[in-house]
Amino acid sequence: MILMIETIYIENQIKKHHRTKQILSRFKKKINIVYCDHYGEIFNIKSQNFRIQKKKPALILAKKEGKKLHNVPNSFSIGGKKNYYFSHMLNCIYDCEYCFLQGKHMSAHYLLFVNYEDFFIEIEKKIKQNRFEKSYFFSGYDCDSLAFEGVTGFVESFLPIFEKNKNNKNNNINLAAEIAINQCDDLIQNGVDKLHFYTLNQASLTFKICSNIQKK
Ligand code: SF4
Repeated sequence: MILMIETIYIENQIKKHHRTKQILSRFKKKINIVYCDHYGEIFNIKSQNFRIQKKKPALILAKKEGKKLHNVPNSFSIGGKKNYYFSHMLNCIYDCEYCFLQGKHMSAHYLLFVNYEDFFIEIEKKIKQNRFEKSYFFSGYDCDSLAFEGVTGFVESFLPIFEKNKNNKNNNINLAAEIAINQCDDLIQNGVDKLHFYTLNQASLTFKICSNIQKK
């Protein structure tokens, strides 16, 4: 997927950001770099067509301004009372025909907000605010959080924040296992007889999921 990107647009305000430099270093071939004042100059402007742009999407690196965490509607919870979602990226490198992202925006470019640290601040603030009960955080509402990992470094950046807070009542590793176990259980009940796990350096988490599935 990295090979498909020929152009990267970068907001001027984050051109010296450490994550911008890190992401650029992951592209080995020559890439066109175009600087802009705001991603809105390129992303989701009226004359764009999602389907045409999907043939050759560009990557846009920008800074997420304003609120980073949003409340999840009550009916979408998985049992917890404090549920939040965040979008560090808009659009997906894949093109599943059933996905609501197809045409959610007029633009098919991948928009990535590099200021993860500002997301961390809001996440940790919520964890502290809800210290007497579990908080649930959902990523990937506007993208597939893991699909672009080779470029975004999402997991390696965000997991330590949850790890750091694991002694809190919010043990997010357990939460991740709980979600995955429920998803696996659902798949098995619907006739899936083989499951494939990407451990992403979380082998113990995968063991935990597998042993819980076997117990059921
Ligand atoms: S977000 Fe998920 S369902 Fe949508 S295109 Fe990407 S991989 Fe497919």
